[in-house]
Amino acid sequence: MSPAPLPSTEADRLAALHSYEVLDTASEEAFDGLVALAARLTDSPIALVSLIDADRQWFKARHGLDAMETPRDDAFCAHAILDPDHPLIVEDATADPRFQANPLVTGAPDIRAYLGMPLVNPEGHALGSLCVIDRVSRSYDPATVETMQTLARAVSVNLELRRTLLRTRKAALTDSLTGLPNRRAVMDVLTTVAATANPVAVIAVDLDHFKEVNDGEGHAAGDALLQAAADRLRKTVRPADLVGRMGGDEFVVLLAGVTDREVVARVAQRVSAALHHPVEHGDRLLRLGATLGVAIVPDDVADAEMALRVADEALVRAKQTGRGGIACATQEDATQLRRAAAIVRAFDTDVAASNSLQGAMVHLQPIIALGRVPEAARKIIALEALARWSHPAVGAIPPGDLFAMVGPVRAAQLGRVVREQALATFAALRKRGLADARVALNLSASEVCRADIALSIAEQVERAGLSLHCVEVEITEEVLLDRVSNRTLDQLAALRGRGARLVLDDFGTGNSGLAQLLRLPLDGVKLDKQFIQRLGVDTRAHEIVRATVSLAHGLGLQVVAEGIETEQQAAMLQALNCDAVQGFLYARPMPPNVLKGWLHERTLHNNPRVTVLQPRTTKKAN
Ligand code: C2E
Ligand code: CA
Ligand code: CA
Repeated sequence: MSPAPLPSTEADRLAALHSYEVLDTASEEAFDGLVALAARLTDSPIALVSLIDADRQWFKARHGLDAMETPRDDAFCAHAILDPDHPLIVEDATADPRFQANPLVTGAPDIRAYLGMPLVNPEGHALGSLCVIDRVSRSYDPATVETMQTLARAVSVNLELRRTLLRTRKAALTDSLTGLPNRRAVMDVLTTVAATANPVAVIAVDLDHFKEVNDGEGHAAGDALLQAAADRLRKTVRPADLVGRMGGDEFVVLLAGVTDREVVARVAQRVSAALHHPVEHGDRLLRLGATLGVAIVPDDVADAEMALRVADEALVRAKQTGRGGIACATQEDATQLRRAAAIVRAFDTDVAASNSLQGAMVHLQPIIALGRVPEAARKIIALEALARWSHPAVGAIPPGDLFAMVGPVRAAQLGRVVREQALATFAALRKRGLADARVALNLSASEVCRADIALSIAEQVERAGLSLHCVEVEITEEVLLDRVSNRTLDQLAALRGRGARLVLDDFGTGNSGLAQLLRLPLDGVKLDKQFIQRLGVDTRAHEIVRATVSLAHGLGLQVVAEGIETEQQAAMLQALNCDAVQGFLYARPMPPNVLKGWLHERTLHNNPRVTVLQPRTTKKAN
């Protein structure tokens, strides 16, 4: 017996065969149907689709034969592939020196006659053959050979189709930049885990400083950072663990079957450590860091599909306490998430019911100038618009929570409605001579990042019959966190160029360095109430306020202090040279009609203190 020699392109041929990922797969109707047809049309007891692997022939489809595979040395088809352009015809195997001693001839299935059509792929490699076999010697007429040629082409076409489908499916599940499974693939895995009720640990990973690198050093550097992060993640976990890219600079690690909290913590620490080294890119070193959130199914959250969101919730908490940390999910995260889901549902029913937001309403709070003038002469420099929203199903939700909970699209919806009301109220007050200052509008980071935000605000202002000269825009440092692009900065500069003032809210609560803050074209800063409320209690707060005021003034920025509740705080801020104040001591945020009365009283009596006039109705709202 003489085994077939190897084709000259054997290595490439094998690589081509393996690219079909068809070996050892289940039977498929398309191929089964073709071998049945081949057997019938050629009147043969046996028909096969045989694929020639390194040391075996494996049958993708079989008719009249039980074996799944045979050694390659015994395979007639290993001979057939040597001449891809022609069929191999053996009329009597016992008379052919290549096959006389072949165990498939001397024993079962007692092959006598064989007709094999090579299966040639588009690159010219013969992957195997479609063959028919007889147990008696026979000849094959040209019509039979032609029939087999046609059927072999059909097999080849099906193999191609199968490979294309596989590739498309893979592409749809793979992130092209890092080669990691994408969000869809990860969600598929989590769905499967949920269906089998298996434990799984989820580590959500969010890169720190990504946006800074991407904007500051260019997209190639950003890509390099993501690829390096993906690479390190893959190397840090075991091959059986899944690393996926969820989008942007978010990754996830799934540890299937792991419930031991200590094991998960160790992996999380390893992941965190791996992501806390700079990345070399050309001759530069790119800064890298990461914040992690961990959730374990079923301990922290019952259901694998929810686990990712709970891990994200923990991650958000970790970010709030400073980037670079690791936070483990708590029962509270799951509770919080359920509440957020209820709020989102209520919000959506509100939108659906009225195609606007019936539960939304603006309250306005005066911002009052300090300075060495008698209290009665102090000017109101702005009215800050603050969102209020309530729904019968969930009650009144504080805006601080609401904007963070409902996601960017709904936040934008609510923001728009609140601005509309604020601008209309302000225009009406101006007409009555009750407001000559500005209206201050809060913009959440996700709104600021919208491509059309400057235009959209300018349009709203114009529609209200106002100009941008009577608008102040309050943004938070959050716009600088990983997200701010030059386009955003241009948008803010454009608003400012048309007369709006730009103020940085909650100053002192974030982590941005001064250099970062100076990228923003600012007119003023608002000192966060956490400092104001520690004045007189904590000397450090006093020093922070003093330093901030002097720094801001040095940069030509105005300083507003918010959250003033006591006379003592007011006096200290006056002494510290703060420019303006806002707080319950002067006025609470008020609905438009109450504000109108308040302003009216104030002008009538020229009385800046509102403690006696303070509207009771608004107390509840805060
Ligand atoms: P913020 O912009 O820092 O608004 C100031 C918050 O301090 C308001 O809370 C206000 O009611 C409260 N406040 C004012 N004076 C005092 C005081 O003397 N003591 C205390 N304890 N609090 C005082 P509010 O209305 O609950 O808003 C919370 C946050 O929600 C806002 O913080 C802002 O970040 C966000 N927000 C509110 N309305 C909007 C909006 O229309 N759009 C956006 N994007 N965010 C909004
Ligand atoms: Ca504000
Ligand atoms: Ca604030």
